[in-house]
Amino acid sequence: MAQKVNIEELLKSMTLKEKIGQLTQLAPFFFKDSAKGIVTGPMEALGIKDSDIWNAGSVLGTAGAEETFEIQKLYLERNEKKIPLMFMADIIHGYRTIFPIPLALGCTWDENLVEKVARVSAIEASAGGVHVTFSPMVDLVRDPRWGRVMESTGEDPYLNSVMARAFVRGYQGGDISKEGNIASCVKHFAAYGAVEGGREYNTVDVSERMLREFYLPSYKAAIDEGCKMVMTSFNIVNSIPSSGNKWLLRGILRGEWGFDGVTISDWGAIKELIPHGVAEDEKEAARKAIQAGVDIDMMSGCYAKHLEELVEEGQVDIKLIDEAVYRVLKLKEELGLFENPFKGVDKEKEKRVVLCEEHRRIAREVAAASIVLLKNENVLPFNKDIKKLAIIGPYADEHAILGPWSWQGRWEETVSLKEGIINKIGESKVLVEKGCETEGESDAQYKESLKKALKAASEADAVILALGEHYDMSGEARSRAFITLPGRQEDLAREIIKLGKPTVVILFNGRPLEIRELYKIAPAVLEAWFPGTEGGNAIADVLFADKIPSAKLTMSFPYTVGQIPVYYNHFNTGRPKPSEDSNERFCSHYVDIPNAPLLPFGFGLSYTQFEYSKIELDKNILHANNSIKAAVKVKNVGKYPGDEIVQLYIRDLTASVVRPVKELKGFKKIHLEVGEEKEVVFEINESMLRFYNENMEYVSEKGKFLLMIGSNSRDLQTVEFEYR
Ligand code: BGC
Repeated sequence: MAQKVNIEELLKSMTLKEKIGQLTQLAPFFFKDSAKGIVTGPMEALGIKDSDIWNAGSVLGTAGAEETFEIQKLYLERNEKKIPLMFMADIIHGYRTIFPIPLALGCTWDENLVEKVARVSAIEASAGGVHVTFSPMVDLVRDPRWGRVMESTGEDPYLNSVMARAFVRGYQGGDISKEGNIASCVKHFAAYGAVEGGREYNTVDVSERMLREFYLPSYKAAIDEGCKMVMTSFNIVNSIPSSGNKWLLRGILRGEWGFDGVTISDWGAIKELIPHGVAEDEKEAARKAIQAGVDIDMMSGCYAKHLEELVEEGQVDIKLIDEAVYRVLKLKEELGLFENPFKGVDKEKEKRVVLCEEHRRIAREVAAASIVLLKNENVLPFNKDIKKLAIIGPYADEHAILGPWSWQGRWEETVSLKEGIINKIGESKVLVEKGCETEGESDAQYKESLKKALKAASEADAVILALGEHYDMSGEARSRAFITLPGRQEDLAREIIKLGKPTVVILFNGRPLEIRELYKIAPAVLEAWFPGTEGGNAIADVLFADKIPSAKLTMSFPYTVGQIPVYYNHFNTGRPKPSEDSNERFCSHYVDIPNAPLLPFGFGLSYTQFEYSKIELDKNILHANNSIKAAVKVKNVGKYPGDEIVQLYIRDLTASVVRPVKELKGFKKIHLEVGEEKEVVFEINESMLRFYNENMEYVSEKGKFLLMIGSNSRDLQTVEFEYR
């Protein structure tokens, strides 16, 4: 079956129908049903005919090596030109070994760990036959009501860009022809994270300046790292849906950034040009999408049904089709699929690599590094000699802690919190009570559960309250208007905390939550997110100080939902609030709540304490051709060894356009033994000061700047420098 092809020649030999096939992506069952001679509802709904199926260029999803092998084999028997299928899937935070959700991965501030996560994901997925992953999702997010914030690494363009690059490096491994490496598809281009009101699939309205400065950098970073594919978003950008947006796709992506890889629509998004109101029918939608620059139609059927007649009628230039098909064939060639359509697909190998010990070990390490300590009044760490520990709450022994987009992961293979703690201190010391449900519980049921929970807590020396969102409350199409803990969990927490035992609240969730009241009364709070397969073990490692927490938030926790959007890199106003406790009437503020979020971007505690020396600059005038060295000494003055994430922010004090009050420009994660001190040096140069000026040119302007260094975006030391 192996063939070496000349793709230019192959393209020339293809019929129009065959070419359009390459631009069509279908789900696995289309192939399997069609091979059995079955015509199903979805086929009819999309108007997909048998010939479309056996010409289709790619597949969305696969159940693993066996299915991939079967479909590829069936396909190659029927496809006239023997052009192998390309299998794509959503490998977002692991394949069978599930890692913490991307929002948690961001909180590690550790690009090497994130690269490792992507590497392991690629190794497992490729053994299952996946060639392309629809990841990373790099949408900048500012609204925790949006269910998909769990898929992003947070609210900062710089950090998101660092992480975007790390994901791409990990998946692609530098050479996608090699077994174990897969191509990366960055999404959702563009600004999907800015949906109004945090409501899924909603309108996006951002200015070009906002788009270029905040939203676009992370997609660009992925592309600069060599990412092979780009997925369009569902939303509009400047009133034109992304999947029909020529300015975005041909202008910015291909024109300005020089991207020469494949573009793909999001699921059914080409057809959505109709309800958006920019296409009258599917035919017009297909025309607009291909002209705008969408190469592959994911599951809308519009290309399969209409491109042929559009070309024949002269409405669509065949050149556009040829270019798109060329890119698809080129990717298949780069993946080495012409030489071996079954590359890496091996049932035995799949069994060996997925969820192997080494991958579990990495999952545990990463999960521990993503858990953020939000508060600790002498509760943590626990001592392993503890006599009785009560674990109370709906997440006490819950296995559904993988988070959304973990379709290959299995709950029964996941370590629950209870199991992790038992692995650490043994079963005899642990009491477990659910206390309440996350949803759907009667008063009588709650009364009964509460009674049992109070009893267990009273018998224990310390208590863990394992609380969270229901696992199906975050992810795609899971926007929430109230981002509080659902059900009676806060009531339960209040009752248990009243007992006065050393108590830690552990949160399992996919978004920043509104936890103001709980935060006030809980002696300790640990944000565990959805930590993945090894979640329970990783949390136990942190609780008992086998791992010292070091993660920091990458998305602000709002004081209340009424503050949203609330993010650290906002603009100043003409009437800034002089200080958080100021009550000046005519300044930009709320009469009933503070301006600041409950917990700011970059915030996270450790069991140890770090002391920062004063910032030392080697000079305070910067020129275009030199740099300033900003140094700070950080000392571990506490009782545990630990990692600190030292953060650098800059503010342009006066410019031709309004600039954010601070912007992250660098960070370093350092390890310090007890009593150890290290110097952290940041190099500041002109390129770090650039922004879009009043003429939308990306430049720096001379003047005064603030340089800030500290352990989070709120608690910072400040010095001034000048750029001349
Ligand atoms: C999501 C994408 C995903 C695609 C394929 C869509 O609904 O928005 O993120 O890659 O489905 O599963």
